[in-house]
Amino acid sequence: MTKTILVALGGNAIKSADDEGTAAEQFANVYKASAELVKLIKAGYKLVVTHGNGPQAGNLLIQQEEGKKFVPDMPLDVVGAMTQGQLGYMFAQALGNLLRKEGIETPVAALVNQVLVSADDPDYLDPSKPVGPFFTEAEAAQLKIDKPDWLIKEVKPKTVEKRFRRVVASPKPKANVESDVIRRMIDAGIIVIASGGGGVPVIEGANGLEGTAAVIDKDIAGAKLAEIIGADVLLILTDVAHAKLNYGKPNETNVGTVSLSEMHTLAEGGDFLAGSMGPKVRACMKFVEKGGARAIITSLDHAYDAITGNFGTQIVQ
Ligand code: ADP
Ligand code: MG
Repeated sequence: MTKTILVALGGNAIKSADDEGTAAEQFANVYKASAELVKLIKAGYKLVVTHGNGPQAGNLLIQQEEGKKFVPDMPLDVVGAMTQGQLGYMFAQALGNLLRKEGIETPVAALVNQVLVSADDPDYLDPSKPVGPFFTEAEAAQLKIDKPDWLIKEVKPKTVEKRFRRVVASPKPKANVESDVIRRMIDAGIIVIASGGGGVPVIEGANGLEGTAAVIDKDIAGAKLAEIIGADVLLILTDVAHAKLNYGKPNETNVGTVSLSEMHTLAEGGDFLAGSMGPKVRACMKFVEKGGARAIITSLDHAYDAITGNFGTQIVQ
């Protein structure tokens, strides 16, 4: 049986830290990432692809702030959908072009995908996920009047002028709204790009689903999608080849292949930082807990070595 891999690509795999973020740069990065994915497809794996949208959503939110004098600014859920469209388009085009060059006719399609969260999620009580541009104290004060539903926090030291930022909740994904569509697309042999940026977060409202101003962690949402579609492998690709113990210290060491219970013990040490490696490790543990065969954290350029061997950080049954 063909094995299915849910690949989660980090925002860093699409926009490098020193990139300005031009369309040309993003396409170049998407092509680089897609070339690695083509190696997996050629090796006979079925892929479902998800991706981060942090840098793209950040830039789009700046455009909302700067452009709102001229045209209405869009809320966070719509910005999430817009970046899913942006990156979904880039990946569909790049992957499609690279596959056709190899003589592979597998169709690729991207989905604007909603992910259900609970309006009672505890993260709404103490939101901590910063989004969008930095503001000065005066701008922050004005925003409190203009946007009474925004929560603005001081996220940098007093010496920094632009030190305020909007923070939103990062609720847990409960279900993927289009899961049945995604399953049908996979069964039809389509390479699906879904749940981008963690998916557009929606809650169950009085009149059905409605968007909520939140950001779902893309690795946790990717693990949920991997579980829903019964993927064999969850492959999280980021900018480091391994999750590390004593991260950033002289005695730093790589985590290699470990069992679920070993990873639980290692995670208790607190070496996997919140907001970056922490959610990746949690996503991997969740996937294996739910019956997934293996979950991997490694860098983009090691994707093939990790899948065909045991490179990177791997959690196995
Ligand atoms: P992505 O965009 O791929 O989601 P993140 O920045 O969210 O990337 O996560 C990857 C980053 O996690 C690494 O660049 C590294 O700085 C950070 N990190 C935090 N803790 C660890 C750790 N224990 N081992 C390795 N990297 C870690
Ligand atoms: Mg991340």
